[in-house]
Amino acid sequence: MAHPEHLDLAARAAELDRADPLHRFTGRFVRAPGVVSYLDGNSLGRPLASFPARVHDFTTYEWGTRLIRRWDESWMAKPYVLGDRIGRSLLGAAPGQTFVGDSTTVLLYKLIRAAVDHRPDRTEIVIDDDNFPTDRFVVEGIAAERGLSIRWIHTDRTIGVQPHQVADAVSEQTAVVVLSHVAYRSGAIADMAAITATAHRVGAYVLWDLCHSIGVIPVRLDECGVDLAVGCSYKYLNGGPGSPAIAYVNASLHRELRQPIWGWMGAADVFAMKDAYEPADDIRRFVSGTPPIFAMLAMESMLELIEAAGIQAIREKSLALTRFTEELLQAYVLPLGATLASPADERVRGSHVTVAHPRFRDILDRLWERGVIPDFRAPDGIRIGLSPLSTTFTEVEVGVRAIGEELQNVLR
Ligand SMILES: *Cc1c(COP(=O)(O)O)cnc(C)c1O
Repeated sequence: MAHPEHLDLAARAAELDRADPLHRFTGRFVRAPGVVSYLDGNSLGRPLASFPARVHDFTTYEWGTRLIRRWDESWMAKPYVLGDRIGRSLLGAAPGQTFVGDSTTVLLYKLIRAAVDHRPDRTEIVIDDDNFPTDRFVVEGIAAERGLSIRWIHTDRTIGVQPHQVADAVSEQTAVVVLSHVAYRSGAIADMAAITATAHRVGAYVLWDLCHSIGVIPVRLDECGVDLAVGCSYKYLNGGPGSPAIAYVNASLHRELRQPIWGWMGAADVFAMKDAYEPADDIRRFVSGTPPIFAMLAMESMLELIEAAGIQAIREKSLALTRFTEELLQAYVLPLGATLASPADERVRGSHVTVAHPRFRDILDRLWERGVIPDFRAPDGIRIGLSPLSTTFTEVEVGVRAIGEELQNVLR
């Protein structure tokens, strides 16, 4: 008797869930009623079920009872304590180089401006034309403000920026190179070590955007000799909507670089209330105003989970999920004329898989009605985001099958 393919793949998904050493973590998140497949954790991670209790404890034992005394006891140090922990567990960064605060966009501005201001003799910023809009816009704004020109790398939207392209683009005129470690569109992983070394050969700084890397791919900032990095915490760190970002500045640059938003929290002596701004001589000089302590609670809880699982094991599961997604796409979606828009080689692919079809825009409403939530990126891409600690193989099978069914419906 003919056997529908999905029965096999659904059974395989169940088997993969049973064998998954991290499966127990999937139960730790809030499950939205009616959502059968959440494939957008790379845009907004799910909340932990323990979060309300965390907020309650914070209100009761920290804010409510310690009041302003808590700044001295804990909150002043929080951006750096949490930053060091993220640095150690996820970024390969020694202590004293990482902090939490601002948004990714604001940190991009502060750190790129700091870099170009320290290279006043250089006239160019290098960035690729498929970098995330905010990265491109910030660079365009800084170029306009400082009278610099932009050298654009034309990136293949599937395989991402390649080291030889960076080698061709940089010169003695380059002040800073701005790239994403994992491309937001395709999930392509850039060669951080090779590209950083290439930029350094001509004396340029490099800033890496880690938004799609933090919490899902082990990063080795110190080992790669990276100068600057930024990334957000509401994707794979599940920090919640608008949770603050993460910045890394290599220790060798702390005394050299000055960022443009001079605020009291970056001053050498915060409570001296001096007449003139004098920056701290460590990572604190990249901070501007009062840190958003409340908005760090969710990511802190998630970090505990990530540390318990281990970033290597998380990467292993991410690979298993993307591999299975590819298999599902081959069965359900690619035969309908869709194409894979992510690197085929999983070693250079992050934790989402992108598939393209000109009619995808027309199936989104139907998918949402069915409780299947992937991510659409204009003009024709569906990104299937796989958040290893919260995503089950079963929900991926359900979601990708629905994408195939709805695409088939609109093509009829
Ligand atoms: C998500 C994302 C951002 C977001 O920046 P915000 O300031 O948090 O809005 C920036 N860059 C990349 C590559 C991203 O994926």
